[in-house]
Amino acid sequence: MKEQQQIIRDLIAVATGQVAHVYLGACPDQVEGQDARDHDCPACRAIMAAERLAK
Ligand SMILES: [Zn+2]
Repeated sequence: MKEQQQIIRDLIAVATGQVAHVYLGACPDQVEGQDARDHDCPACRAIMAAERLAK
């Protein structure tokens, strides 16, 4: 599978709730803001990979 396809699939998993944020650090929410990312969170890592792809 292409890397881009995997990144999109990971993002879908986050969007559908299959992969949830850990909410222990800087996950995006009302408190941290929508641009916050936690490098230890699988959901945040999926978002960051998609953001790199979208640049
Ligand atoms: Zn997160």
